[in-house]
Amino acid sequence: MIRKTKIVATIGPASDSPEVLAEMITAGVNVFRVGTAHDSVERVLERVKTIQEVIANQDTAVGILVDLAGPKVRAAFGDDPVELDLGSEIEIRSGEQVSTATKIFVNVDDIARNLVVGDQLHMGDGSATMEVTEVAAEVATAVVKRGGTMRGRPGVHIPSSRLSQSSPTAEDIKYFDAVYEAGVDMVAVSFVKTGRDMRALGGERSPRGPLLVAKIETQAAVDNLESILEYSDAVMVARGDLGLECGLPGLPALQKKIISAAVAAGKPVITATQMLESMTEMAQPTRAEVTDVANAVFDGTSAVMLSGETAVGHDPVLVVETMADILDQADMNFEHEAWSERIERSTPSFGPDETDVRKVAFAMRTAAHRAASALKSQNIVTVTGTGATSRAISRFRPRARILAVTPDQRVANQLALSWGVLPTIGKAEGDGTERIMSVLKSLRDQGLLQPGELVPIVSGASNSALVSNVIRIENVPED
Ligand code: PEP
Repeated sequence: MIRKTKIVATIGPASDSPEVLAEMITAGVNVFRVGTAHDSVERVLERVKTIQEVIANQDTAVGILVDLAGPKVRAAFGDDPVELDLGSEIEIRSGEQVSTATKIFVNVDDIARNLVVGDQLHMGDGSATMEVTEVAAEVATAVVKRGGTMRGRPGVHIPSSRLSQSSPTAEDIKYFDAVYEAGVDMVAVSFVKTGRDMRALGGERSPRGPLLVAKIETQAAVDNLESILEYSDAVMVARGDLGLECGLPGLPALQKKIISAAVAAGKPVITATQMLESMTEMAQPTRAEVTDVANAVFDGTSAVMLSGETAVGHDPVLVVETMADILDQADMNFEHEAWSERIERSTPSFGPDETDVRKVAFAMRTAAHRAASALKSQNIVTVTGTGATSRAISRFRPRARILAVTPDQRVANQLALSWGVLPTIGKAEGDGTERIMSVLKSLRDQGLLQPGELVPIVSGASNSALVSNVIRIENVPED
């Protein structure tokens, strides 16, 4: 059995050496995530290059996701810890000066104009909270409601509806252009509010360009989920900022809602933040963390993400191994049939303007999934140029493994994020029966299919077919 739910691991100082990266792949990483918030463009490109070199020496497809920081508000503290005491009064101003226990400087122009009395400001991902009590032209005053210790450049969460700056920022576009040139497989956009935000990045769309991942972390993004899904290739439930924005008690229901909408739309979805947080320092996760990871699987997530655990944690490889073990068990208890039925029920019927290509694609994918479940197949074979056929079958969450045969390395890397899909590089040659048999023989020779095994296979009738329009059910040739 191969693991169906994928692992995204964030790379940082604890994990950016070639040796650790290779060990993390062996432990089960499917996608490496590189953040841009704390590093220069040159440093990000250097990290991407190191990861690309490690991946090139592996025989499994592994993706690289670059996560654009967006308009993240940050306070400037020095290296020495500063205590924010409960009940103390603090001035908040724009600027890059070093903050103190009574004056906090943030990296946004006209900060006071963006705030109103009563706003809750969370610092350092919620370790301290302040409430705005007074607003003047250049300065806002706030009272500390929950104390905490600050140093470095902690994030300051301001209700996203207050911030005029939209996503992606000019800074994000600078990073995007650089990593686009470097050929990364996926790019995530932070603090998206509408589908329109996702169209602001240049370049070609997937598969020739990167998969675009919308991070759902604002109330506006939750409200505009449908349009964001339409203009994105994948989404992330970014529970850190989403929890601050919408309140922690509402987070589990939001997670279910976002995952469910993404799966129905056939888009991969990543569940992120504090999944095995205690393992940043400890050798074992808590029971609550293990249960949280398994519940994300039962919610239908395509992938789970590790953040600080692998970026700065004491043992990134152990964290990935632990995550893989939890996912294996959760996958074994996944209710495939209930999911498939739900997805089939929720699929909208065609409108009068639907194109024939889309109708054929839909019918072929549904037929492949139904054939596999009727036959109780171990595998469904998809021959794919863009990855679309494999992703569309993945949304049914079938019991069978989805083997995705593609000639394109980037498509294979992008499919590393998709639930239940094992991407492999290969080509369908010739036409008719010969075309189908060449794929089955090649997968058999790689040890991915067993001789005699009965499998459904979906493919185009030729390499120039506009859509996968052939489905065959065949025994894998014995010789
Ligand atoms: C999050 O907020 O949960 C998240 C993934 O974003 P970041 O780690 O970039 O703050």
